[in-house]
Amino acid sequence: MPSTDQPVPFTADDYRARMARAAESADAAGLAGVLVAPGPDMVHLTGYRPTAETERLTLLVLRAGQEPALVVPALEAADAERATGAPALTLHDWTDATDPYALAAGLLDAEGRFGVSDNTWALHLLALQERLPGTSYASLTAALPMLRAVKDAAELERLAAAGAAADATYERILTVRFSGRRESEVAADLAALLTGYGHTQVDFTVVGSGPNGANPHHEAGDRVIERGDMVVLDFGGLKHGYGSDTSRTVHVGEPTAEEQRVHDVVREAQEAGCRAVRPGIACQEIDRAARAVITEFGYGERFIHRTGHGIGVTTHEPPYMIEGEEQRLVPGMCFSVEPGIYLPGRFGVRIEDIVTVTEDGGRRLNTTSRELAVVE
Ligand code: ZN
Ligand code: ZN
Ligand code: ZN
Repeated sequence: MPSTDQPVPFTADDYRARMARAAESADAAGLAGVLVAPGPDMVHLTGYRPTAETERLTLLVLRAGQEPALVVPALEAADAERATGAPALTLHDWTDATDPYALAAGLLDAEGRFGVSDNTWALHLLALQERLPGTSYASLTAALPMLRAVKDAAELERLAAAGAAADATYERILTVRFSGRRESEVAADLAALLTGYGHTQVDFTVVGSGPNGANPHHEAGDRVIERGDMVVLDFGGLKHGYGSDTSRTVHVGEPTAEEQRVHDVVREAQEAGCRAVRPGIACQEIDRAARAVITEFGYGERFIHRTGHGIGVTTHEPPYMIEGEEQRLVPGMCFSVEPGIYLPGRFGVRIEDIVTVTEDGGRRLNTTSRELAVVE
């Protein structure tokens, strides 16, 4: 399984542009700045992925009109400098037995509201708040949900490569034996294939056979797959730092007329959701388009989750394709379209592609057949 294709690395200029955009959008939203702890936002904005998140403070401070600043433990400074292509930001390192929060507080105003990356440890945020009682904080996904939503060409290339790897995984899984094997064994096959096709991280490998498929949160267990089972497959992870996430539902042996019909309804709903994608329409319209088909065929009550979620340096992020989300689609956004029908105690069906918004519509990053495949 060849996958030595390495994308062109992001440059310090790329990161500088992303950080400037984040600072500007914070300013436009009335925030005094953005504070980012190690995690997906840090990776996206700086390329820096510390080996471990620790009790030692690492914090990126972005403010309109100021140089981006990274507060970093002295013992991590060399790694941080290498990863971030240093000219993109100024490092402020601190040594043990000094106060990192005083250092960070010095980069903030004494008052104002700051957006904080969702995964910032309470330990760090509470200490900062104690130093600056006049400040307040908002979660970054609440304050700036679209911060990472619009992907540039280099990001789209990585997402497409991750999607192609997931598609290759699906093609191969159709050739393995399902009946008589445990879900967990097929899940292990999926993980090995994703890794073989260049994923460095496998986030989930759902194998929901028979009644287990009716639970969208079921991952994979000890159940032995039998002839006659519908099997929901949903798998993804990260390749070159960007996510894949696709679902197909297969059947072991020939399906019944009812199984085929339910699958047909989901497939038509998924088509409708993908067809609705174009710039300027609200996220909720994607959900409505898919849901209308399922409702029309009488399964509305059995479609028990949102239609989709964004994807990028993580496999689940804003924007969300859900009723009430009025965010407009913009070219470069990437998200899943994944309607499903879940019949408790019996079986489930889900079909999922990642779609990117283009100037005149949408383009799927998953292109394997959506017909109900028969496996052995
Ligand atoms: Zn069956
Ligand atoms: Zn999925
Ligand atoms: Zn998904």
